[in-house]
Amino acid sequence: MRRQELDIQLKTPEQIVKMRAAGLVVFAALEAMRDAVAPGVSTADLDAVAEKVIRDAGAVPSFKGYHGFPASICASVNEQVVHGIPGAEQVLVEGDLVSLDCGAVLDGWHGDSAITVGVGATDPALLKMAEVAEDAMWAGIAAAARGVANGRGRLTDISFNIEKVVRKGGRYGIVDGYGGHGIGTEMHQEPHVLNHGKPGRGPRITAGMALAIEPMITMGSPRTVELSDGWTVVTRDGSRAAHVEHTMALLDDGVWVTTAPDGGRARLGDLVTARQP
Ligand code: MG
Ligand code: MG
Repeated sequence: MRRQELDIQLKTPEQIVKMRAAGLVVFAALEAMRDAVAPGVSTADLDAVAEKVIRDAGAVPSFKGYHGFPASICASVNEQVVHGIPGAEQVLVEGDLVSLDCGAVLDGWHGDSAITVGVGATDPALLKMAEVAEDAMWAGIAAAARGVANGRGRLTDISFNIEKVVRKGGRYGIVDGYGGHGIGTEMHQEPHVLNHGKPGRGPRITAGMALAIEPMITMGSPRTVELSDGWTVVTRDGSRAAHVEHTMALLDDGVWVTTAPDGGRARLGDLVTARQP
């Protein structure tokens, strides 16, 4: 394993294959939760669903015990943006918008991914926000794939493309102070990946990098506060928020989205590497 400027861990193709295995476990856990989301279900129920999928696959939930975090998922409902702690008392009701964030470590390598889903009949404007966040995430991933293929990519090309799609999508707040990150033998590594900013800055996008890309946007202000539980981040103005995430690995000729079952092919086409290791 090589390292470059900023202490970015570069993975070998063999290590990326391990990250892929972890990514598929995370995907399975998220799909199981997506199926389980319904009015009357608590976020603790969803946590149990995810933990079972992860452990049955022989993996370990990355979140559990991370700086003392007590659960296998973050479940962030409505005005909660990220890092919501699941609880039996937090019962989903029709119309809620919930972000489910999940990580797993398998054979020493991590995957990290999140989805935002409506509970029952949900305001179309909220679902649109979740869709814009998703489009922005894929635009960021596509920028990284182009950048590694042409050899000219810089980290903030990802940030710039995320912001561009969010701004085009509507009047959303791009949450301040949180973003994506490097990922590999630890869940959180260098570099930090902003969800906004000018292109062409930061470290070069290089084959062997693995990054979690995770836009967080709101129906209102980008400002947030952390609740006294020491984890839950909520919007300051009470507006609802969406958060989506995928983990991707970069190869010489493109990207491999390790937490997407098709590697990202449906959204990225030829930007997905032709030579998956
Ligand atoms: Mg995550
Ligand atoms: Mg993450």
